[in-house]
Amino acid sequence: MFDFADRVKNLPPYGLARTEPLKEEARRKGLDLIDLTIGSPDLRPPKAVIDALKEALEDPKTSYHRYSPFKGLPEFREAVATWYKRRFDVTLDPEKEILPVVGSKEGLEKIALALLNKGDVALVPSPAYPAYLGAVHLVEGAPYEMPLLPQNDFLPDLDAIPPEIARRARYLLFNYPNNPTGASEASFYEKALAFCAKHDVLCVSDIAYSELALDPGVTGRSIFQLPGAKEIAIEFQSFSKTYSMAGWRVGFVAGRADVIDALMRIKTNCDFSVWPAIQRAAARILTGPQECVEFYREKYRERRDAALAGLERLGWWALRPKAGMYVWIRVPSTYGSSTEFVRDVLMGTGVAMTPGIGFGRYGEGYVRIALVEEKARIEEAFQRVAEWAGVAR
Ligand SMILES: *Cc1c(COP(=O)(O)O)cnc(C)c1O
Repeated sequence: MFDFADRVKNLPPYGLARTEPLKEEARRKGLDLIDLTIGSPDLRPPKAVIDALKEALEDPKTSYHRYSPFKGLPEFREAVATWYKRRFDVTLDPEKEILPVVGSKEGLEKIALALLNKGDVALVPSPAYPAYLGAVHLVEGAPYEMPLLPQNDFLPDLDAIPPEIARRARYLLFNYPNNPTGASEASFYEKALAFCAKHDVLCVSDIAYSELALDPGVTGRSIFQLPGAKEIAIEFQSFSKTYSMAGWRVGFVAGRADVIDALMRIKTNCDFSVWPAIQRAAARILTGPQECVEFYREKYRERRDAALAGLERLGWWALRPKAGMYVWIRVPSTYGSSTEFVRDVLMGTGVAMTPGIGFGRYGEGYVRIALVEEKARIEEAFQRVAEWAGVAR
């Protein structure tokens, strides 16, 4: 009988998949589920991108139906370069410094494949987007979880990384504005670049939420706004959250040319890039008017405010997220674990949240809600929880 590879046998369950059986159980019990677990935007993509996809489908040229070039369509890479220039005043070479990915998740996995030999260290924040850890496990690398703690404003403390770990590290990964904590980067980019230069480590920035600022004065930043960053950094961006296009599977990675080339060489063996019709539509939305994003920001802002009001009434602590689409909530001290807490709330109310442990070791003690239901539904979720917790008026 054949056996599975060690990397599969030892693969921990994906962080966001943990609540699936619980949700199933709640449905079987006939509960009206309010699912705030996965950050899968419920809002429709902008009309412009749907129109652009329809146009690509009707275009008599067959090129939008053939295999994509391995490097992606030139029009896509040029649109990304235009976006970086406009948005961050950053100049990138669309030939050598930009590559489409089948969602950032795909690209993050290829980074691990490109940089880690068995046992090599990747520095990943904890809690974090679960694919960061998953990618390292898949190549049998050694993840080092950098704790994101409230006393450090949920920023990694790079000085606390043991020298032995820094010496074995191949890349440092971070994401601001942050999922799941909602923290912003402050001056972390400068520190991260200095650390990476000192230890000869690739700097990997994920800016999936750079366009979803919720408070005035908050502006997403690109790592490439710092001098010298292109020599040592790459950056991921996605259409999933900015334009509510998670199912389309399209994003891009930009930066250091030899890393982009290595990713492309890996990908030639794995896929044929993103469907060209989607690349064309994505290029259009990226270079078109951005008012559509304000609509999403407004939605997430009102949902966040509804959630924060509900939390205040419950007396549960949460960081006020200045950007993004999540609220990171501290589990009340009467509970032992985030998983137990999530189960009790779900079975008692039908409201599903993700236990913090699903985002890494240092996520324990917290739960995350994703603001992927309308405001009225979020209010209802908190009303039910308030009744369950016995604080309803
Ligand atoms: C949602 C998310 C992404 C986007 O992933 P895609 O694969 O592009 O859909 C990337 N990073 C973080 C931190 C996310 O939360």
